[in-house]
Amino acid sequence: MNYDVAVIGAGIVGSAIARELSGHQLSVALLEARDDVGDGTSKANTAILHTGFDAKPGTLESAMVSRGYHLLSDYATHTGIPIEHTGAILVAWDGEQLAALPGLKDKAEANGYHRCEIVDSDAVYAAVPHLGPGALGGLTVPDESIICTWTVNLALATDAVNRGAALLRNHRVESIEKTGDGTVLHTTGGPVSARWVINAAGLGADVIDGLFGHSRFTVTPRRGELIVYDKLARPLVDKIVLPVPTSRGKGVLVSPTIYGNVMLGPTSEDLTDRTATGTSETGFEFLLEKGRALMPRLLDEEVTATYAGLRAAIDHGDYLIEADTAQNYLLVGGIRSTGLTAGMAIAEYVRDQLVSAGLILAPRTDLPAPPRMPNLGEAFPRPYQEADKIAADPAYGRIVCFCERVTEGEMRDACQSVIAPAALEGLRRRTRVMNGRCQAFFCGAEVQAIFDRERQPERPAVLQETTR
Ligand SMILES: Cc1cc2nc3c(=O)[nH]c(=O)nc-3n(C[C@H](O)[C@H](O)[C@H](O)COP(=O)(O)OP(=O)(O)OC[C@H]3O[C@@H](n4cnc5c(N)ncnc54)[C@H](O)[C@@H]3O)c2cc1C
Repeated sequence: MNYDVAVIGAGIVGSAIARELSGHQLSVALLEARDDVGDGTSKANTAILHTGFDAKPGTLESAMVSRGYHLLSDYATHTGIPIEHTGAILVAWDGEQLAALPGLKDKAEANGYHRCEIVDSDAVYAAVPHLGPGALGGLTVPDESIICTWTVNLALATDAVNRGAALLRNHRVESIEKTGDGTVLHTTGGPVSARWVINAAGLGADVIDGLFGHSRFTVTPRRGELIVYDKLARPLVDKIVLPVPTSRGKGVLVSPTIYGNVMLGPTSEDLTDRTATGTSETGFEFLLEKGRALMPRLLDEEVTATYAGLRAAIDHGDYLIEADTAQNYLLVGGIRSTGLTAGMAIAEYVRDQLVSAGLILAPRTDLPAPPRMPNLGEAFPRPYQEADKIAADPAYGRIVCFCERVTEGEMRDACQSVIAPAALEGLRRRTRVMNGRCQAFFCGAEVQAIFDRERQPERPAVLQETTR
């Protein structure tokens, strides 16, 4: 198979790039090592749509996050990706942190975000009544928002496929071979040739970079563990409660989730194993200690689940996006802790880099409308609540997962969607099924039976006509 552009990695960043490029007269392939899109770092983060108020001013990351915030907010309204503009409050717990607030406000201004306000401790407790004792003041960030990271990834990848991109799952790139006018990628799914290769492989980006003869960075998997509390905890917190950030990152926060829960986390721990997405006892102890100080009432609530994600941290203070024009190869590396927000802006930036490198990109005039995604957000109507929908199709009235109120109709739709799930995990990310407090104890067997009945064979990738 021969493409104009091959994008390696179907996380949020690679999917956004494939979507952007397939809006032009190009043939695009999106290669993913795993059996599904969005199964790497993009599935396990804190799912906050950042304004970029606390980014390092002047960096590429700062520019991408603030642009990405607006692009993704707008895209969400067209596709139905659930977002809640809850706002955030950053809390100072000691004199040093209180003294840091004016500097953080200035930083927000330098990043082009002008709506932060410094508030006193009374205002902090009025905003978050269940906060632990000792808060001295805070900084409000009214536009920080919560979002569904799973739907973002799936919408971008679905859009790319609808635009004609070939999604090649189970295609792990293992070696490359340079040819006269491009590259052959040797993958676990067979060879794929392309004129240009874009490396959006996240935790594996340095390995792919090495295949092209570079040794410019090393990825360190930085684990972030999180605790998810039951939906009964949701009244305790209606906005994102942030600590004063440090050089290690954004610190441990308490936040509502788009699914109606509350989460506490993440930790920040450098590892060597790039597959270590398990949680740990020391991580929990650390989080519980932080949570006890932040919001003691939260610790009385029941825990629904725990999870961990790995940030692709690199030894470089900014995103590393560089084109190697001699090899028709572009690296998108170090998208560490803001890629969910910045993904669509990174895609625009990559497009512009490719144009600067000489690739001719003619926009298409025949683009399909963006996909309309099923709503997974707790704050918006879901099929079990919609009488008209149930009357028209009783499968939307048959609840299978009672914790999350997921219906048979939604599971069937997911199995018949453009990018159908390859396994139960993928079905979970498309519907919320098994995501609740019983963690599939009650519904697991029925979910498996429905999945086995409804699952579709993977659609073969169709090569769009190359127009170069
Ligand atoms: C704990 C935590 C909290 C975070 N919180 C936020 C947040 O609140 N807001 C925010 O904006 N960002 C957040 N992030 C960051 C965000 O999740 C990431 O920046 C983003 O998901 C990165 O997307 P990606 O596409 O670059 O990587 P990934 O999602 O990891 O995708 C890379 C893909 O490449 C594939 N791949 C790797 N090697 C190969 C190969 N050889 N061949 C083919 N495919 C390959 C992988 O299987 C993977 O699917 C957080 C991250 C973590 C870990």
